[in-house]
Amino acid sequence: MKPIFEKPHEGQWIGNDIISLNFSVPSNPIIGFIEGDGVGPDLWSASMPVFDAVVEKAYSGDRKIYWSKIYAGEESFRLFGSYFPEESFDLIRQCGIAIKGPLTTPVGGGFRSLNVTLRRKLDLYACLRPVRHVTGTPSPMIRPQDVDMVVFRENTEDVYAGIEWKSGSDQARKMINFLETEMDVRLPIDAGIGVKPMSPLATKRLVRMAIKFALDNGRNRVTLVHKGNIMKYTEGAFRDWGYEVAREEFGDVTLFENELERNHQVHIPQGKILVNDRIADAMFQQALLRPKEYSVLAMPNLNGDYMSDALAAQVGGLGMAPGANIGDRCAVFEATHGSAPKYAGLDKVNPGSMLLSGAMMLRLMGWNEAADLIEQGLSSTIQSGVVTYDLARQLPGSTEVSCSGFAKAIVGWIKKG
Ligand code: NAD
Repeated sequence: MKPIFEKPHEGQWIGNDIISLNFSVPSNPIIGFIEGDGVGPDLWSASMPVFDAVVEKAYSGDRKIYWSKIYAGEESFRLFGSYFPEESFDLIRQCGIAIKGPLTTPVGGGFRSLNVTLRRKLDLYACLRPVRHVTGTPSPMIRPQDVDMVVFRENTEDVYAGIEWKSGSDQARKMINFLETEMDVRLPIDAGIGVKPMSPLATKRLVRMAIKFALDNGRNRVTLVHKGNIMKYTEGAFRDWGYEVAREEFGDVTLFENELERNHQVHIPQGKILVNDRIADAMFQQALLRPKEYSVLAMPNLNGDYMSDALAAQVGGLGMAPGANIGDRCAVFEATHGSAPKYAGLDKVNPGSMLLSGAMMLRLMGWNEAADLIEQGLSSTIQSGVVTYDLARQLPGSTEVSCSGFAKAIVGWIKKG
């Protein structure tokens, strides 16, 4: 059976030209949502009323989102025999903008990650993860407010390309024999093999997006983070291609560390962006020791994955970390944590990540007033001591509420404010 999608009675499709100059959001856009697996349905039913409440409050009925359900994950498999039907990809393209809950992927055998499939099929080549402390959120850092970074993680290549062969398989043996006979490289015959492709095209479009973002948002540092000292032709090339984009396409606004040092300058001149690079392991230290010196990070896929979660921990954990997967044609916003199966259906987890992802989505649409209300409502509710279990155990004296209870408290704040 194929899924049937009903177009909401009212509302307009945004279509698939997100990054192009023609991108404009109607006042009544249709936006897709994927509930997700595990805790996804709890998160969605808590978050959607918050999104509707902020839009209503900010625009008094002049703007309204029409939500269109998109099937993916376990529910879709149960109903239609497919974890991600082709129709769902089509609907995301038609919407242009969608927001999703987490999707479960079994470790080891089974199918490829639905998230990886989604990113590759829709060419959502940049995973955007802004990391900033929401006032009131407990954090392991002494000064979590010093962290204000936006990670641009390459989303389509690297070891996440899914090119790998199991230990002992014919394909792995073939590769091992090929490497030995053609490349003079010897490996254990029973090794599992993975391939790490990284191309100038994918790297350059990511770095281009990161530098444009810095320019548009008044940020004056872009750091290329890589492991090029070890993997010279992949991670090292990422750095080189990144600098090429900075020099060749943004030469009038970028400058480099050696230029600052040569001129004995301490400050970045007004209107300029410093483009520098750091080796990934050193960057993990820098993020803890000197977070104020970093603003926009452009990273390959695997290191970007680690760094985004590590930075999220610095500002209070994954429950408070928003994310988006963005391409030139559509954008899918998502809670960055997984489906937390042990809490599924318990109405327990923190909807903060989903809510902040919604705020990011509203900003991309240019609906900044509504986005501000989500951030303020979230922060005020936490500061009033009303929090979900994950924050409650770090905030002595706070009142623990359910996922929906937390969202209701935010809606209450919005309506009252
Ligand atoms: P997870 O993020 O689902 O959960 C790990 C732990 O983090 C939970 O047990 C819980 O203690 C805590 N947690 C997660 N979200 C929370 C929230 N909103 N509020 C409070 N606490 C929260 O990670 P996992 O257990 O490694 O992964 C479970 C499944 O999710 C796997 O199948 C994995 O592949 C998938 N996953 C999906 C995405 C995605 O859809 N983008 C991302 C990561 C993992």
